Parts: sequence; structure tokens; C-alpha cells
Amino acid sequence: LCLGAQETANHLCKDCPFTTEVRRLVCHWTGVAAAPSAPFGSLDEWWDASLPRADKVSRRRTSGNLIYVWWNVWKERNRRIFTFARLTYVEVAHLAFEEINQCSLAFSTSAVGFALEPD
Ligand SMILES: [Zn+2]
Repeated sequence: LCLGAQETANHLCKDCPFTTEVRRLVCHWTGVAAAPSAPFGSLDEWWDASLPRADKVSRRRTSGNLIYVWWNVWKERNRRIFTFARLTYVEVAHLAFEEINQCSLAFSTSAVGFALEPD
């Protein structure tokens, strides 16, 4: 995506400037604390350092957001390779953010309270 390094899982998920910008925007828009930018040797160490220690709900939310970021970065990588189309990091972040919101609405208890349309 950045053409600056070999495409490894470590680079694509943790070190790539494209992914870092997508992650930064999604964290900003969702109000989740940004993942650490300090270098970590492995993706596993970085993942552990990225998750909040405070409570299980925050850890699950941050984990879910990271997975949506990575999923959308992966789809962008494939889009560029297989369709020769490309999106900006802002557009990819927006797609990830939309999916996070849809997931949140789908599993939200408030969504249960929606009134059904009359027949
Ligand atoms: Zn890169």
C-alpha cells in the first residue's frame, strides 16, 4: 500500500503508514484511544500494548475496531491488486467506520426498541 517496505503481516497491520493513518482516523472517529506508535518487535506485542487494560468492554471494542481496520486495509490491498482501483486512506477509514457503526447498531440493545412499521 505504501510501496515503502516488503508486504508482510507485521508491516501491513502494524507499521505501514497507510494502515497507521486509517487506524488513527478510526480511533479518532470512534473515540477509542489510539494504538501506540512506539516500535514493537512483533504484531503480538503491539496488539497486547494496544488494548486498554481498564475493562473488558473497552478491550473488546478496541479489538473489534482494529479488526475492522485490518479487514478494510486488506480489502484495499486486494482492490489495488485485482481491480486496479484505489481508495485513499480517508476513504478506507470511512468504510471501516461504517462497518463498525453497522455492527454496533446490529448488536445494540437500543435497536431492539425500534417500533415495527404498521401493516
Ligand atoms: Zn506499507
